[in-house]
Order: sequence, then structure tokens, then C-alpha cells
Amino acid sequence: MKKEAIFAIQNLLAEPKKIAIIPHRSPDGDAMGSTLALYHFLLKLNHQAVVIAPNDFPNFLAWLPGSETVLIYENDREHCTKILQEAEIVFTLDFNALHRTGEMEQVLNKLTATMIMIDHHQKPDGFATFTYSDTAFGSTCEMIYNFISFLDKTALIDKTIATCIYTGITTDSGSFRFPSTTSTTHRIVADLIDRGIENSEIHNQLFDNNSYNRLQLLGRALQNMKVFPEYKTSYISLSQKELDEFHYEKGDTEGIVNYGLTIKGINFAAIFIEHRDENIIKISFRSQGNFDVNQFARDNFNGGGHINAAGGKSYESLKETIKKFENLISKITI
Ligand code: 5GP
Ligand code: MN
Repeated sequence: MKKEAIFAIQNLLAEPKKIAIIPHRSPDGDAMGSTLALYHFLLKLNHQAVVIAPNDFPNFLAWLPGSETVLIYENDREHCTKILQEAEIVFTLDFNALHRTGEMEQVLNKLTATMIMIDHHQKPDGFATFTYSDTAFGSTCEMIYNFISFLDKTALIDKTIATCIYTGITTDSGSFRFPSTTSTTHRIVADLIDRGIENSEIHNQLFDNNSYNRLQLLGRALQNMKVFPEYKTSYISLSQKELDEFHYEKGDTEGIVNYGLTIKGINFAAIFIEHRDENIIKISFRSQGNFDVNQFARDNFNGGGHINAAGGKSYESLKETIKKFENLISKITI
């Protein structure tokens, strides 16, 4: 971040303010971890802060400290709109364009508050007053740690804040395995452990809380996997009927897409999930190496993300969507 921006933000935060903090729609570990870390930090600076998520977060994140205070826009539009309109500062975390907040976009578009974006996605929109955006970071949580240090306030990072930061670093780095994991990431994590986080327990909370139904759904997803060795590609599909069969709950399909990449020789994996209530096919893409799934998602499936992890959606049927995908992969070099 530029020195002038840091000074300006330091000035803004010098007096107690009303602050709203926004993650993207369908918030993941990094979105929830970063917004809650910032929330606890701003409370320590005597601000009135609140996290407003566009829609609900998955159960596997419900243990995060402060998650019980998070307001869900979809559940109480009027109240959330009022808070947003009264906010003097709005932080937008872990997303690069306001449409990533779904219908909250209409409200955010009209705000006069100072907007501060902290994010690691490509091609950030210019909506914020201050933008701290850098795709070199594996997570927004790592950037929150830096943001706090820019403000010269690392002394305020307690176990609670550290726990939230650790969560996003862990989930967005695939537990420290993705290429964006640097020696600095590990140094930050070392510091978080020194501040008292129970790192092993956090992993238990995040990854060892499976329901039997979720594992059965995973089994079905793996059975449904199609592999195209000639295109170095695999994909998984799950229909609404299959989700219903295993009593799908939000979060149950998290991470399943990654299994496709674990097959030898596969560098591109996708998952197509039918969500009949929203009338869309939700898609996740993952790659290994140089194939840019962000561009692929932008060009073909109304989405975006990062080079090796992106998402998108299709308004066609599951069958048509998959047909389109199979056609596309036969024409590109992966
Ligand atoms: P996931 O597949 O885990 O939902 O998302 C992977 C990455 O792509 C995340 O960084 C997420 O923010 C981004 N992403 C997921 N869905 C969309 C989408 O519909 N539009 C855009 N622009 N990015 C997305
Ligand atoms: Mn992220």
C-alpha cells in the first residue's frame, strides 16, 4: 500500500467510526476469516464495526470467533441496508467487483462512505477509495496481517484475531500447499502460533467435521468423475437430485473439485453443481501449472478468480453446461 493511503487510513481510524465489513457472496474461509479478523481488530480500536455477509456462511466456519455477530443481508435486507447507509467506512474483503456481493451490489453502489478494498483477485474494479490489491498473496487474510502491520498495530493481534487470520491463510492455501505459499506466509503463521492460536485444533474444526451424508455425497461425486487424459482434464457433476439424496447442506461440496487434480497427468479440474433454487449451475475450476482458469471462467462461464482457482455459473441445464465444457476442452491446449 502507498504511504499516503496508509496515512489517510490511519487518520480515518484515529476517531471512533461506524464501519461495515463485507465479504463476497457464499463466503469461504478466507472471506469469513479476513472480515472477522478485521472486525475484532477494529473493535479493539474502539470503532463500531459489523460484518455483513450477502448470504449465509457454511457450517464448518460457524465456530469462528465472532461469527454469531455476522449479519446476513439476505435474511434482513432492511436492517442491513440501514447499517450500510449509516456506515462511514465500508471495507470490502476478498473480492474484486461489487457484483460478487449479489443483490447487495445495488446498495453498495449508492453508498457515499469511504470504501477500502483489500483483496487478492485479478483485475480489481475501481470502486474503492483505497485499494490494497495484490494477486501475489495466497489469501486476503495474509493481507489483513500486513494491513494491521502497515498501521503499526501488530501488538493488537491477539489469539482471536490470529485465529481468524490463520483460518483464511489455511483454507486459501490448501493447507500451505499451493504455489502462492511463501516463506513470508510461514513466518506470519509462526507469529500467529506465537500469539496463542491452537493451529491443530483449527484444522480439526475446518476439515474433520464431516457428516456421514457429506462423505456419501463425496463418494457419489467421485463415482461421477469423468477423465479426459488427452486433454489433461477431469470433471465432476452433481445434480440437484443427488444433493437431495444426501441431504446436502451448505459447505458439503467445498473442496471436492480438488480431487480431480490429484489424478496423475490431470492439470485441469472442474465441478458442476446444479442449484435448482437459484436456477444456476455453480461451477468451480482448478488447475495446476500455467493454464489460467480465471480467464477460462471469465471467457466462458460468467466467472473469474485466480490463475489456478476460479469459479463461475451457467444458466443452461447441467447437461448443456457439461456439453459446452466438453466441447471447449477439446479445442484448447491445457
Ligand atoms: P470456488 O470455486 O472455491 O467457489 O472459487 C474459487 C475462486 O474463484 C475464489 O477466489 C472465488 O472468489 C472465485 N469465484 C468463484 N465464483 C466466482 C464467480 O462467479 N465470479 C467470479 N468473478 N469469481 C468467482
Ligand atoms: Mn481469498
